[in-house]
Amino acid sequence: MSTTPRPQLVVMKFGGTSVEDAAAIRRTAAIVRDRREKCLEAIVVVSAMAKVTDTLLAAAAAAGLGDKSGALALSARLRSRHLETASELVKAPALSTLLSSVQHDFDALDDLLRGIAAVGELTPRTTDLVVSFGERLSSQIVAAAFDAAGMRGKHLDARLCIVTDDQYGKAIPQEGLIEARMQQHALPLIEQGFTPVMGGFIASTESGITTTLGRGGSDFSAALVGGALHAGAIEIWTDVNGIMTTDPRICPDALRVKTISFEEAAELAYFGAKVLHPATILPAVQKNIPVWVLNSRNPANEGTRISAVAPPCRSPFKSIAVKKKLTIVDIVASRMLMSHGYLKAVFDIFDRHRVAIDMVSTSEVSISVTVDTSDRLPLVAEDLKKIADVSYESNKALICLVGEDIRGHAGIAGKVFTAVGHVNVRMISQGASEINMSFMIEEEDAAEAIRSLHRTFFADPDGNIFDLDARANTTGAPPVSVPASIAVH
Ligand code: ASP
Ligand code: MG
Repeated sequence: MSTTPRPQLVVMKFGGTSVEDAAAIRRTAAIVRDRREKCLEAIVVVSAMAKVTDTLLAAAAAAGLGDKSGALALSARLRSRHLETASELVKAPALSTLLSSVQHDFDALDDLLRGIAAVGELTPRTTDLVVSFGERLSSQIVAAAFDAAGMRGKHLDARLCIVTDDQYGKAIPQEGLIEARMQQHALPLIEQGFTPVMGGFIASTESGITTTLGRGGSDFSAALVGGALHAGAIEIWTDVNGIMTTDPRICPDALRVKTISFEEAAELAYFGAKVLHPATILPAVQKNIPVWVLNSRNPANEGTRISAVAPPCRSPFKSIAVKKKLTIVDIVASRMLMSHGYLKAVFDIFDRHRVAIDMVSTSEVSISVTVDTSDRLPLVAEDLKKIADVSYESNKALICLVGEDIRGHAGIAGKVFTAVGHVNVRMISQGASEINMSFMIEEEDAAEAIRSLHRTFFADPDGNIFDLDARANTTGAPPVSVPASIAVH
């Protein structure tokens, strides 16, 4: 099998808002055209149109409860939205082929929903099949729109190439098989000068049963595609200007981070920076392919480059993330002191109820853990009460400062806690990864704490790492330039 690197190939992934309607798809087409005109090869991965996945899940759930007309009404609304978008973008005669394909898919979806409603049972396998229509449809429409714009778009059903196991809802990719299938199905199209357009998120088992990679999985698809084809770069086109030093809605002074390491980006993604799916990181890291986060509403902006190793930075932190809607669960061992196996028993309970733990702190007799607030918590508490006294408090926020240069800086913790001296800090952890420092506070104190930390750590930002132009001119985009890692001929 050929594993020749293809530095001229760029994988371009567009999220739901970048394909949400005809105007967005036209903007997307212009961005892809620009890359192709620079003599680059492109393969495009698209999400479902904005909100479509949520609607399909709602339709599936309604059908599962036996509400056939509710499910079909949701599907009917999606049908007209897709048909309208297609009609705005594509002209006859190609339009009739596209419309009949869209109609055909919606007929199949409606049959499926009727079947689910008749049985009154919704399995994870069937759910995957229902949601798969979102990306199947968006990718067909985008491919046809590219073709209509003279860009040689070619739809490629992702399920032919992205092979997974059968853990429906969050299936595990089989990278060896994906590489073989991509070489077989996508490479010839690229070599013939087409721009293949694939749906993200959707995949299939080796025997062809539809699966999905989990919510937000299109980024993951893009990384898998890039890894399989040994692409020169992966571009994740979203609706923000890349990774920022913190949420600009909280802190208008936030700066764009020009370059960040894979590890830092993964840490940020985990702690609530919604820019990127953390799993995106892996297939790209392993093959050393840089990932760019770019803004499809502001394509001139250079975005953020995520690479294996970040250049050294003068300030200890790259970004401050906040994760809200957290609950602290305090578990006090009632009779027994923490005996052998006690922690395991506690964690098993969380595991059983599929509640993921973010942070843990322990003392002789008590354990405090933080978890996402969920309606499963009362069930967890009920089980925990069999082995401990349990109490929990909601409305907490986790502030997380991320940077690979924490280690080199003495007295960082002191500086952090001086900056937030006026708020009540509940739990502190310096992550085992040594690149994050996080602490828990009341949700209502979060905005003020972030602004204060940002003032402290980004007063004199390093111009190699952060975009200082944005501070001088918050509305104007920095000068256009092509990311340095992409070879332009
Ligand atoms: N459409 C899927 C979702 O909404 C996958 C994605 O957009 O990345 O989760
Ligand atoms: Mg997404």
